[in-house]
Amino acid sequence: MEKYDVLIIGAGIAGLYAAMNIPKEKNVLVVCKDIPWECNTFYAQGGMVTAQGEADIPLHVKDTMIAGAEHNDREVVEILSRTSLETTKDIIDRGMQFDVGETGELLFTKEAAHSTARIIHAGGDATGRYMHHFMMTQNKHKLQRNTLVYDLLIENGRCFGAKALVNYEHKTILADDVIIASGGVGSLYEFNTNSRTVSADIHGICVEKGIELADMEMMQFHPTVFVKTPFARKLLLTEALRGEGAWIVSKDGRRFLFDYDERGELASRDIVSRAIFDHKRKTGQEVYLDFSMFEEKWFAKRFPNITRSFEAIGYKFPKDRVPISPAFHYAVGGIKCDTDGCVEGIDGLYVIGEASSTGVHGANRLASNSLLEGVVFAKRAVDHLLGKEKVEMAVPKFDKEYKNIVHHENDKIYKHRLRKIMWEEAGIIRTKKGLLKAKNLIYDMKNREIGRLLELRLNTAAAIIEAALKRKVSLGTHHIEK
Ligand SMILES: Cc1cc2nc3c(=O)[nH]c(=O)nc-3n(C[C@H](O)[C@H](O)[C@H](O)COP(=O)(O)OP(=O)(O)OC[C@H]3O[C@@H](n4cnc5c(N)ncnc54)[C@H](O)[C@@H]3O)c2cc1C
Repeated sequence: MEKYDVLIIGAGIAGLYAAMNIPKEKNVLVVCKDIPWECNTFYAQGGMVTAQGEADIPLHVKDTMIAGAEHNDREVVEILSRTSLETTKDIIDRGMQFDVGETGELLFTKEAAHSTARIIHAGGDATGRYMHHFMMTQNKHKLQRNTLVYDLLIENGRCFGAKALVNYEHKTILADDVIIASGGVGSLYEFNTNSRTVSADIHGICVEKGIELADMEMMQFHPTVFVKTPFARKLLLTEALRGEGAWIVSKDGRRFLFDYDERGELASRDIVSRAIFDHKRKTGQEVYLDFSMFEEKWFAKRFPNITRSFEAIGYKFPKDRVPISPAFHYAVGGIKCDTDGCVEGIDGLYVIGEASSTGVHGANRLASNSLLEGVVFAKRAVDHLLGKEKVEMAVPKFDKEYKNIVHHENDKIYKHRLRKIMWEEAGIIRTKKGLLKAKNLIYDMKNREIGRLLELRLNTAAAIIEAALKRKVSLGTHHIEK
C-alpha cells in the first residue's frame, strides 16, 4: 500500500498550484483521472482577474458581490481580491508569461460585469492552456495520470487517503492529508463546456459521507457556446469577445439584449444566458455572435485559439457570425470549506478550486474570478496544512471491496438520461414541477443496478435538485418560474 504526506486529487490550476507550494522534501502525489491536460483549466480562454493595485480592491470586491447577488461572503471576497496582488506577482516571478504590450507592460482586458479592465491573459485567448503548461513544468512532485478516485477513506472524523482505479487496477492510497482539487460538475449536463474528466465524483462521495455541499443550486451557464458539435464538450466563445465589442444579434441582425438589460452584451452571464434562451424559445430562431466590426489581423492575434478551432469547422472569422446557445459552464456551489480549504469535521481533508464552496462567488461567479480562486485558496490550504502539528494515528482497516462494480453495462443509457433531465429541468429556467420530475427520475435510477461512478454522479445531481427545490425565489444563477 502506498503512503504519502499529501495526496492531491486533481491536476488543474488548483491542484498544481498547491503542489508548487509544497516543499520538495515532502512526499506528495498528485493524481488526475486521464491525461493531465484534460481539465477545465486547460480550456480556460479569457484570463485571470487580478486587482489593479490597492485602489482597485474595493471595486473588485463590489463587482464580485454584485455579480454574486450579494449572496457572497464579503470577508472571503476581500481575501480573494487582496491576495491576488501577491499570487499574481508570485506566478509572474516564477516565470509565467502573461501577454504584454510593446514596452513590456501587462495587458489588461475587461469582461462582462467588471467595472474596469483587470483581467490578464496569455497566448491571446489561451490563458488556461499557458498557465496549465507553466504549472506542469513547475511541479516537482510525482504526478500520476489514469488514476480515478472513487472513494475517500474516512473514519472517526479523519481522512486517511483514497481508493482509486490506477490504470484500471484497484489501489488504496494512504496520505496524512488529502486535498480535493477535482473541479466542477460539467458532465451532469447535456450541453456543457467542461472537460470530460469533470464529473462530480468526489462531490458524490462527500454526499455519501455526510459532508456538506453548499450553494449547489447555483450552477452557471455560459451564454455564448457553439453546441452544434457531436462531442460532449461544446465550444466556448469567450466572454472577452463581448468585452472587446462583439455583438449578440437575432437572425435579422438586431441587438435584442437591450430589451432585457440596459448593459446589453455586457450584462452578467445569467442575464445574457436567460435572454438568449428566452429569445430562442419565443422566436424559434437562431441567435448569433457577430464579430464583423473587428479588423481581421487584430482579431487573429487577439483570439488565435478561437480563430483556429472555428476555421477547422468551416468558419472564417471575423467575417462569419456563429450560431450560439447557452450551456452549463461553472459550478458556483461545491464542497463546503472554510477560507483555508478545511472541510469541517474531517481532519486532514481540504478542498480547493472549483470543487470547493467558500462563499466567494455568492449566487453567481464574476467572469475570470475562478482561475484566481484556484491559486489564492490553494496557497492558503497549503499554508494551513504545512503550519499545523502532525498527529500520528493508526490507519483503520478499510476493507470494502468494489471489484468490478465501478462501471455497470447499463450506465451509459442512464448517464445520458441524467444529462438530459439536468439540462431540461435543473438548467437555466427551473420550475417546481420540473425539479420534482428530475428528483423522481434520479431516485429511480439510484435504485437500479448501476456502477459506482454513476451512483456518485446521481448523488451530486440529487444534491443540486434538493438545493434548487429549497430555494423558492430566483437568485443569481438560480432562476425559478412559478
Ligand atoms: C471552456 C472554459 C473556459 C473558461 N474560461 C475561464 C477564464 O477565462 N477565466 C477563469 O477564471 N475561469 C475560466 N473557466 C473556469 C476555470 O477554468 C475553472 O473553474 C478552473 O480551471 C477549475 O480549476 P480546478 O483546478 O479547480 O479544476 P480543473 O482544472 O477542472 O481540474 C480538475 C482535475 O481533477 C481531476 N479529477 C476529477 N475527478 C477526479 C477523480 N474522481 N479522480 C481523480 N482525478 C479527478 C481531473 O482529472 C482534473 O485533473 C473556464 C472554464 C471552461 C470550461
